[in-house]
Amino acid sequence: MTTNKIAGLANTVPSIDSIRSAIAERRTTAFAVAEDYFARIKKEDAEIGAFLTLSEDRAMAQVERIHKLAVAGDPLPPLAGVPIAIKDVMVTRGVRTTAGSKILENFIPPYDCTAVARLEAAGAVVLGKLNCDEFAMGSSTENSAYRPVRNPRDKTRVPGGSSGGSAAAVAAGMAVATLGSDTGGSIRQPASFCGVVGLKPTYGRVSRYGLIAFASSLDHIGPFANTVKDAALVLRTIAGRDPMDATSAEVPVPDYVAELEKPLKATTHDGSGGTSPEGKLRVGVAKEYFGSGLDTEVLAAVEKAIQKLALLGCEIVPVSLPHTEYAIPAYYIVATAEASANLARYDGVRYGFRAKGAKTLAEMYRETRDGGFGMEVKRRIMLGTYALSAGYYDAYYLKAQKVRTLLTRDFDEAFKKVDVIAAPTAPTAAFKLGEKVDDPLAMYLADIYTVTANLAGIPGISVPCGETREGLPIGLQIFGRHFDESTVLRVAYAYEQDQGRSRGARPV
Ligand code: GLN
Repeated sequence: MTTNKIAGLANTVPSIDSIRSAIAERRTTAFAVAEDYFARIKKEDAEIGAFLTLSEDRAMAQVERIHKLAVAGDPLPPLAGVPIAIKDVMVTRGVRTTAGSKILENFIPPYDCTAVARLEAAGAVVLGKLNCDEFAMGSSTENSAYRPVRNPRDKTRVPGGSSGGSAAAVAAGMAVATLGSDTGGSIRQPASFCGVVGLKPTYGRVSRYGLIAFASSLDHIGPFANTVKDAALVLRTIAGRDPMDATSAEVPVPDYVAELEKPLKATTHDGSGGTSPEGKLRVGVAKEYFGSGLDTEVLAAVEKAIQKLALLGCEIVPVSLPHTEYAIPAYYIVATAEASANLARYDGVRYGFRAKGAKTLAEMYRETRDGGFGMEVKRRIMLGTYALSAGYYDAYYLKAQKVRTLLTRDFDEAFKKVDVIAAPTAPTAAFKLGEKVDDPLAMYLADIYTVTANLAGIPGISVPCGETREGLPIGLQIFGRHFDESTVLRVAYAYEQDQGRSRGARPV
């Protein structure tokens, strides 16, 4: 079981609230909670490989702060004593941050990522840094320069990627919640593969300050958790304008947790330009997300989940997203183009690894990048450099940007008719380790249903909706309008409550 036996906590999967209140009511201490999680990591993680670095000193300093508040009977902040962990693409002051790459093997950042700082300010205890595909490039976490991560639900399979460590840590009960990053699906797809909840917010909702850039116009930070409510709590903590990120939006952050219980009613437009506050919440279903390549067991589970949403009082409405088939090619042009620019900074001068023995500056650059980057990263830098080069820019990059606009318009049109859109998160359940490593194009297709939300910047969540015959988790994806994470969370919550079980409580 993923159950952690913390004295004073009921024998279920600990939630953020259960841990915080157990500490506040002195049924346990922040020390006992942190020790329990570190012990579990030391026992389980040798096999799973979710953690790259443990931050015990930093965690214990925070534990002491929380403990003092608890002993004094002072009010505890909302995430007090809650053990969390961070994908290793977010910088942490004084704690090694590698981005899963050899080129940053010994990089100790001098500052904190805003999302991490906000979680700590809310009382969370950072246990460590989580394994991921190198620079978040991948769909299986097999591109980590350190080691692959194994799926806690079936250790012969991948946890998904690139935030595989973040999904696996929650699924294996090694953290209550984690942060991941999602550039083309890297929160939602691993959440689906590991049977946990994963949320990619709207572009601009969460500051990217301190997120090691892969593709800046597509990168998002978001939470993994066992329950929709915990994901809502983490999002509420990290969301909102940050003066350190000019792309973070000046949009008020609702109380996502308070809004979870609101009835499933239509939010704004009813398609005729008016509003229908009393109407049913409308769930769009697009045939483009149910075409060839979709596994039959995934299809059956997602269809059943959509029927369940109808039984819960939603109206199911067919919508059309006609440019979906161009999403993967457009994504791989935009993402690689931006990556080629972002990764130019790793030259052996400014950060981390530097090749030894080079005789000239040019040789040093070349050897550093050759020795420091892995295969997939090099492939992307080459693709991106090509797409941006004079003579090809219009044919590839500009064309991809136009397709991006068409995809965004597809969603804008659909959201005039519906409040959310339901789809599978991934075309299959978790695949075997090694199954796709030699076939990058097959690997890229693992994101066929997720990249569209990154190109359009809309929010999306993956919530568990069943299992295959082999017991592998399947994810239901729910997209929403820009900055309407509330409705996305509310629909996911209603569905989850109806399922009546909490993900992590199931056997691993
Ligand atoms: N799998 C996609 C890629 O390799 C998405 C990765 C991500 O979301 N970080 O680019």
